Amino acid sequence: MGAGAIPIDIEKAFKERAKNKYKLAIYMADEGYGGEGKIDVSFYGGDPVFTPPKQQQLDYKMGKLSREKLQQQYFKFLENSFIQYQYTWDKILDSGKVVLVCSCNAPGKNCHRYILVDFLKKFGAVFKGKHKG
Ligand SMILES: [Zn+2]
Repeated sequence: MGAGAIPIDIEKAFKERAKNKYKLAIYMADEGYGGEGKIDVSFYGGDPVFTPPKQQQLDYKMGKLSREKLQQQYFKFLENSFIQYQYTWDKILDSGKVVLVCSCNAPGKNCHRYILVDFLKKFGAVFKGKHKG
C-alpha cells in the first residue's frame, strides 16, 4: 500500500453498501443513443466510473483474458469504483433507468456491458433488453 492510501477494506465496505436494493431498469442501446440514462462504457471515451480499465479490455480482445477472468477483474474494478465514486453510483442507482451504450459491436453477449448488467443486478436492478426509441 502506497503512502497516503486509505486503509479501507473495499470488500467489507462494498458488502455493507450493497445491502441497499434499488428499483432500476437497465437497457442497452446503440452508440447513437443520446437520451436520458445514457452511460457510455466504450473502450474509447467511456465513463471512467463504469468502464473497465483499457488493459482489461485490450487483454480480453486479444484473447489473453478469458471471459471469467474479465468478469472477476471487472467486478473488482466496479467494487472499487462503487466505494470511490459513491455520489455518482447513488445518483445512477436512484435514477430508475440506465441505458448502457458501447461502441464495440461485439456479437452475442461478448460485450462487457453484460458483465456490468450482472453487477448492477446485485442491487436489485432488472435487465430489460434493447432500448426502444
Ligand atoms: Zn461493448
